Amino acid sequence: MSKIRISFAERIEKLPPYLFAAIDAKKSEVQARGVDVIDLGVGDPDMPTPAHIVAALQKAAEKRENHRYPSYVGMPSFRQAAADWFAGRFGVDFDPASEVVSLIGSKEGIAHMPLAFVDPGDYVLVPDPGYPVYAIATTFAGGTPWKMPLKAENGFLPDYDAIPAEVAAKAKLLFINYPNNPTGAVADEAFFLKTVEFAARHNIIVCHDAAYTEIAYDGYKPLSFLEVPGAREVGIEFHSLSKTYNMTGWRIGFAIGHPELVAGLGKVKTNIDSGAFQAIQEAAITALSADQQCVREMCEIYRGRRELMVSFLTRAGFTLKSPQATFYLWIDNPAGMTSAEVSSMFLEKAGVVVTPGNGFGAAGEGYFRISLTVPEVRLNEAGERIVKALKV
Ligand SMILES: *Cc1c(COP(=O)(O)O)cnc(C)c1O
Repeated sequence: MSKIRISFAERIEKLPPYLFAAIDAKKSEVQARGVDVIDLGVGDPDMPTPAHIVAALQKAAEKRENHRYPSYVGMPSFRQAAADWFAGRFGVDFDPASEVVSLIGSKEGIAHMPLAFVDPGDYVLVPDPGYPVYAIATTFAGGTPWKMPLKAENGFLPDYDAIPAEVAAKAKLLFINYPNNPTGAVADEAFFLKTVEFAARHNIIVCHDAAYTEIAYDGYKPLSFLEVPGAREVGIEFHSLSKTYNMTGWRIGFAIGHPELVAGLGKVKTNIDSGAFQAIQEAAITALSADQQCVREMCEIYRGRRELMVSFLTRAGFTLKSPQATFYLWIDNPAGMTSAEVSSMFLEKAGVVVTPGNGFGAAGEGYFRISLTVPEVRLNEAGERIVKALKV
């Protein structure tokens, strides 16, 4: 028994209810009945980190100099490797010393961005549906998230013309994320140009979450926001090794872009964390600079899973297009059902977990998400069960 009365801070009390907690509870309940549940909910790669990257960590972990505090903003060699990888992949050069900062996973940088740039009263434009961190980090910093609905008729791109002038005037940051989680949508150059124009007109900092640029199919190569003219004057881009190299547990990524934005993040990091473990940075250098064959092979596996699941869903009566990127399928609910009902139905009738679209925001209602991060045999089993569940 504690002798003091403990209460959470308002920012914690005011957190939206964790929708996935309800799904997890239901999943355990179904599992307790002896059902072999297949979880297509989580977006966490099932495949291992490539062996050459693990070997690089093992070697780097032995080095005594790596056991001490790292630099807050990342080893010069890591930032150089990130800049080189970026230049090779997107054809744009950035100065590793002033325009690149290491991150303890890109989520860390995304979450710290509002702390560096948002004051109470400031708006932050966030996609809905979207990665929950954009809005929550905004609230933690005292800012107000303003949800930009991503609609199918707009290719799941935000419509900047629909943002009220008074909101745009008070907006400090804009978060976008392409290839997109959860919709699997991709952005073209015209959209990024529109983003630069909108940001410049209203003096808004663009934060592009680029976690999925390397997970793409059929020859499609996702763009970096920073490739379009004017972008580097208004923005910063968050890159992650998590999805590209199956390194979600390692916590390593980087932000690249405008030097003042990179410096702002660096200031927060200096005062909150002490950088990423150097041995992980060394392994990340290996990941970024070695041959990228492992990435191509992984995409080929996801492509096969995508075909498989799309064909099952088509057989089950759904109409959907294969996404060009990401390992997510974003699917319209069966007519007359809410997202929560769809997810309950699949769990009850098929023992399959899917994520209800409204878990990513109110505008995600009407959809559910399937993640392709389970082995093909399991996906096959899940597909069979989904087809059966819908055949009444
Ligand atoms: C997975 C994911 C990230 C990456 O997070 P890390 O912290 O780098 O592991 C960022 N944004 C989105 C939208 C994601 O789905």
